Amino acid sequence: MEALTEKMYQDMGIDPKVCAYGEKIWDSLKDRWAEIDALSEYNQMKVIKAMQKNKVSEACLLGTTGYGYNDLGRETLERVYADIFHTENALVRPQSTCGTHALALALMSNLRPGDELLSPVGKPYDTLEEVIGIRPSRGSLKEYGISYRQVDLLGDGGFDFEAIKEAINEKTRLVTIQRSKGYQTRPTLSVERIGELIAFIKKIKPEVICMVDNCYGEFTQEMEPSDVGADLVVGSLIKNPGGGLAPIGGYLAGKKECIENAACRLTSPGLGREVGASLHALGPFYQGLFLAPSVTANALKAAIFAANVYESLGFSVVPNGKEPRYDIIQAVTFGNPEGVIAFCQGIQQAAPVDGYVTPEPWDMPGYDSPVIMAAGAFVSGSSIELSADGPIRPPYSVYFQGGLTWQHGKFGIMKTLQKLVEKGIIIKDFDKRNL
Ligand SMILES: *Cc1c(COP(=O)(O)O)cnc(C)c1O
Repeated sequence: MEALTEKMYQDMGIDPKVCAYGEKIWDSLKDRWAEIDALSEYNQMKVIKAMQKNKVSEACLLGTTGYGYNDLGRETLERVYADIFHTENALVRPQSTCGTHALALALMSNLRPGDELLSPVGKPYDTLEEVIGIRPSRGSLKEYGISYRQVDLLGDGGFDFEAIKEAINEKTRLVTIQRSKGYQTRPTLSVERIGELIAFIKKIKPEVICMVDNCYGEFTQEMEPSDVGADLVVGSLIKNPGGGLAPIGGYLAGKKECIENAACRLTSPGLGREVGASLHALGPFYQGLFLAPSVTANALKAAIFAANVYESLGFSVVPNGKEPRYDIIQAVTFGNPEGVIAFCQGIQQAAPVDGYVTPEPWDMPGYDSPVIMAAGAFVSGSSIELSADGPIRPPYSVYFQGGLTWQHGKFGIMKTLQKLVEKGIIIKDFDKRNL
């Protein structure tokens, strides 16, 4: 490390021992960085190619008001998304407010009363439980007479093909596959594994719609689930594809039929995709998408760095320091509340916004134990920005993600290590460990 940079770390409250330890780990990961740079190089060109092909122009960045008929920028952006995901069509709008909303839209518009939804990969993301009606909720699919079936993953994380085959019946209309582990301990699914699962399902029932919840997975591989047979991929613009700039939004990309259904539900039957003013969202949508491959790569680097730092100190980490990555989330288990709290406070202290705030655990609505969250984000609640949170309950794990720049991610992890050392949670002579 350059002497000037080292001095800067010191000025920012990082002890030279902590700094040297982190740097040693960072240096040991050069091969991983090269791999990730190659990934983002490919995805960067994929995005530029789609933008050039669709003749993105200055006029596309302007946006419309009122009804938003003939919104050139909106229509072009949707074609750009469709080309990146290699799908027939896409719906990318500020009116679909977040990932949950986009997923709900996809489900509610493509299922009809009497249909059944199947998740062959276990329990879906928390917020979808109420959409589906697993937890009773106003307006859920269940209220509309749409049933739900679930097949859990096997103990080793594999697909339970036998049970999946049995679960598919004459009512099964849509299969939802969550790519990221989210806040569970199961492995994240690679695009290749998703492809295997879709092929298996289509062999049993070809007309079933295969949807992938793509949240946190975009641009972490060269391919997307729509390249391996998914009829519909759905995600949040406040995560990877928004590149940290999109201030709101969700996207759907997929078969024309599926997207038309969603558009008619988002606006109104008859109006469909023809209305929906883009206001001032298009500039950040385009620019965020342009930055997304590189921002996602930075978040991947931060996650790998965190895994290797904490694994080397003897903590359990998922994924581990060596595994390939299919999303940007990193879990670290501390085994005690103090570790979770110190980690989150360290992340907060590294933030460019609200860096002076000290987060504390609190009883958040909807959770059965206190939760601590660190987020000093430019876009409120954005988890492509450096952030961490953890429920205060055994096994006391923290979930860490994001980092618009790898330098920020690296600094954030250095800060967490500093905090843990200061609080005596990490053994005194940690820096003497043989790496
Ligand atoms: C974040 C997330 C969602 C929900 O997205 P929001 O933008 O937070 O509403 C759904 N599924 C998965 C796997 C997620 O990670």
